[in-house]
Amino acid sequence: MIPFIDSNEIWEYINNTKTSENRVREIIAKSLNKNRLSLEETAVLINTTDPELIEKIKQGARTLKEKVYGERIVLFAPLYVGDMCINNCQYCGFRSTNKEMHRITLEPEQLIKEVVALEEQGHKRLILVFGEHPKYSPEFIADTVRTVYGVKFKNGEIRRVNINAAPLDIDGFRIIKDAKIGTYQVFQETYHQETYKKVHLGGIKRNYEWRLTSLDRAQEAGIDDVGIGALFGLYDWRFEVLGLIRHVNHFEATYHVGPHTISFPRIQNASSLSIDKNHLVSDDDFVKLVAILRLAVPYTGMILTARESAQIRDEILRFGVSQIDGGTNLEIGGYSKDKKKDQNLNMEQFQINDTRSLNEIMDELIKKDYIPSFCTSCYRMGRTGEHFMEFSVPGFIKRFCTPNALLTFAEYLEDYAKEDTKVNGYRLIEKKLSELSAHQDVNKLKEKIELVKQGKRDLYF
Ligand code: SAM
Ligand code: SF4
Repeated sequence: MIPFIDSNEIWEYINNTKTSENRVREIIAKSLNKNRLSLEETAVLINTTDPELIEKIKQGARTLKEKVYGERIVLFAPLYVGDMCINNCQYCGFRSTNKEMHRITLEPEQLIKEVVALEEQGHKRLILVFGEHPKYSPEFIADTVRTVYGVKFKNGEIRRVNINAAPLDIDGFRIIKDAKIGTYQVFQETYHQETYKKVHLGGIKRNYEWRLTSLDRAQEAGIDDVGIGALFGLYDWRFEVLGLIRHVNHFEATYHVGPHTISFPRIQNASSLSIDKNHLVSDDDFVKLVAILRLAVPYTGMILTARESAQIRDEILRFGVSQIDGGTNLEIGGYSKDKKKDQNLNMEQFQINDTRSLNEIMDELIKKDYIPSFCTSCYRMGRTGEHFMEFSVPGFIKRFCTPNALLTFAEYLEDYAKEDTKVNGYRLIEKKLSELSAHQDVNKLKEKIELVKQGKRDLYF
């Protein structure tokens, strides 16, 4: 495969693209008309430093989110299965040279306990996370996925299992696909090859191209639901944003489908962390880059995790983030422990800054008029590429996404919510039903919500 990241090309765009008020306006308008931006157009936004124009970019991202996606936020939880790792990534607590790290892999009974604990919180969607190690073979990952799907506790079940694990070969991806995974995420960490070499000092992950082409192999194995990401703080954030957009272009040109999600983690403190701190991204630049990503790839899902503080998460949600985690605990086996203690970084990959429980996050979302959603229906109905359909099919959100969000929200309120959450939650549902009232299916939706109240589960359109 011809390498699709050319660092000279990316630097040319950053160094030679001029910005102006007119250009910024035109580019925002292009995005609001649901067109993906080119590298050059993204560079114009990146190079915008006038605070008023940056405000326009943020406003553009907010408008896009409101206009296209409405006010749903999908909730999930990460479940760390094992922290053994043969690689030596300088930013990660799991790296092989970190002798401080406790090495644990969940045994099947422990895994089941963790899943029960997550179901008891109300979760329906998980992302399983693994270090890179021969023990975490495709067969092992696939077995883990099957075990998770098999755990049903009271009304709880996990309906979608996503994966964040090492790149596989095509046969490996096929094995995982057969276990019915949702999205397979591999973050490139940094698109800048020299930096990549500096921070990946050992193991298979040293091979930049093997990682860069991993999701191509996933596509060839039939997994078209893939998530890309960059670890912000390793290199210049402007370069990483353009690297992500170049990766998106590559998918579109080669497979006629972009990535399902984009992630933009920022480096957090970790056990024996040893990185050059020159490229850490400030809060202001972070907010700006998220707004730019939203505008640049208007059809994709955007994931914001508990690495960020509650305050930053609340601010950035408005720019088009579609998924967040809730009640997050990175300790391996931590969800089923009696009480969450302070983080011990020698037992977890990195520090998180949003430690709110799922119910606390639900309260906050309700207060801000977002519809918390645990919906998994598209993927189970075979409507893959759902984020693209939400974006491109007129009426899709009103027909499917909002009703399904409300149904899964009602399930949560019935089975897991505190009393005041339930009262406020049903008030929100009534409000959203009245907003949907011109829609033909609203009566069917009301009937289904009544059925949920009577104890029926897993109803969707
Ligand atoms: N071992 C697999 C791999 O490297 O692809 C799974 C990924 S790792 C468990 C999940 C992601 O966490 C990494 O891809 C990286 O982007 C991110 N990460 C690692 N160390 C981090 C840190 N100190 N702060 C924030 N995110 C970090
Ligand atoms: Fe291992 Fe992944 Fe951590 Fe690198 S980022 S040390 S591959 S777990």
